[in-house]
Amino acid sequence: MANALQTNTNQTNINGLCYKQNDINIHNNIVQISYCLDDLPFPVRDTMQMAIDKRTPVHLLTAHGCTGHCAFCSINSFFKLSQTPKWRGRSIENIISEIKHLKTLGVEHIKIIDDSFVDGNRDIQWCLHFKPSFLIL
Ligand code: SF4
Repeated sequence: MANALQTNTNQTNINGLCYKQNDINIHNNIVQISYCLDDLPFPVRDTMQMAIDKRTPVHLLTAHGCTGHCAFCSINSFFKLSQTPKWRGRSIENIISEIKHLKTLGVEHIKIIDDSFVDGNRDIQWCLHFKPSFLIL
């Protein structure tokens, strides 16, 4: 979309884009995405140095969504029309790999900011497997 705006080209072929034209809502084709979070690249951390300098924790997301049903929460509205599962988690190996990467960038403190850390297929066994992986860092 940024490229289309910059080059003043047509937005009708940009998958997943919704916009208003002449007071009509236009929804382009929905893109089929991978549900596996491990397939995604690690987040760009181009503003992270500020957090390191202030010694504040760097945020880390190990899962998306939540299967809870709290009435006041936007999660339910967000996923009502979505085709994706309400909760998706990364593998332990993928999480540890990102933490190791963050360490190489000078990160000493992280904060996990998942809406729901233990959810989906994560159970007590997953937690017991995760904890030792975390301690060897
Ligand atoms: S994210 Fe928290 S508030 Fe929202 S549905 Fe899940 S448990 Fe409830």
